[in-house]
Formats: sequence, C-alpha cells, structure tokens
Amino acid sequence: MFYCDKCKTLCEDNICNNCGASLRVADKGDFCFFTECDNYFGEILKDAFDKNKIPSSFLPYGSGVSTNFACKLENYRVYVPYEFYNAAVDVYNFFYDDLTEEYKNKLLKNIGEWYLKSERFEKKIKKTLKLLENKNLAEFLKKEIKNAESISDQGAIGGCKSGGHYLYVRANNCTIMFNSATYEVLAVNAKKK
Ligand SMILES: [Zn+2]
Repeated sequence: MFYCDKCKTLCEDNICNNCGASLRVADKGDFCFFTECDNYFGEILKDAFDKNKIPSSFLPYGSGVSTNFACKLENYRVYVPYEFYNAAVDVYNFFYDDLTEEYKNKLLKNIGEWYLKSERFEKKIKKTLKLLENKNLAEFLKKEIKNAESISDQGAIGGCKSGGHYLYVRANNCTIMFNSATYEVLAVNAKKK
C-alpha cells in the first residue's frame, strides 16, 4: 500500500486518489485515515480499539459548532497506524455487525426529537404506508424500529451543519432514513411485499 503524507490516506496506487500527489510506500508507523464517525459511535469505537490494544487517534473536526466551546464537536476523524490497519478493520467489522442494537437504542431514546420537514411530507408518507390520516406516524415508526432487521450508517450528509449521517433502517413494512444528528426523518418508503 502507498501513503499520502498530505491527506494521511492509504492508496492502492502510487498516486493519491484525493490530491493527486505521487506517493511513497506506507510505513508501519504512518497514521492512516480510517473512518469518520459522530461522537456517539466515536466513543464506542474508541473503546473497542482500546480493548483490542489498537492505537488510534480520534480528532474532533468541526461542523460550524467549534466556536461554541461548551458544545462538544459532533464528529471525529479516526486514524490508526498502518501496522494496525487490518486489525482495526476486523474490530470495526465485528462491531459494525452489532451496531443495529446501538442504533435502535439511539433512535428510540431520542424519539422526542424526531421531526419531519412539513405536514405535507407527513401526509405523503402516511399515504405511501397506507396509514390512516388519524394514525400517529411516530408510533408506527417506533414499532418498526423496535423490530427492524438492520440499521446502518450510510455516511455523512453533505451540507448538514450538525454533521449528521444517514441512518438507514430496514424494517418489516418499510425503510426509513434518519439524520443521525438532528433526527429529521428524511424518507420513509413502503417495502415491496
Ligand atoms: Zn493526498
């Protein structure tokens, strides 16, 4: 593998995918960019790395809130030394399989924060789900999330000032997309039977 000193990324080719610089062969001590995560999962991941004796560096990075020092930064960029990179991938994968429960708890604990961009959007969703107008959508979604097959992080939402990620819920009757930071319900689609 090759390493970019500027971007701190690993590349398979000797040209950086990110900045186009020509690269040197990675050295075991090079701190390599591993992933981005919000502080909720950052703490869980840090713990898992520590338990597995994988050195790591979690650098907070801003999302416009850095001027407010009382407010914890939302996101981390995670780096691990090259020699531990594969071990870190194993830990991450192991623990990624297990994240559905974590996401369920996170979403259900914050049910009071859920919102939709408009009433019209809510109506549209109810129609898609064939829910009656007078039914409570949040109650419906709550049940779906409790029994969801899987919930996964689909990466950062571009332009989200709170540093939110797409949380994708695969439930029994529908799929739901949340903003992980603001809890906005971004999309609900009925599952094809
Ligand atoms: Zn680069």
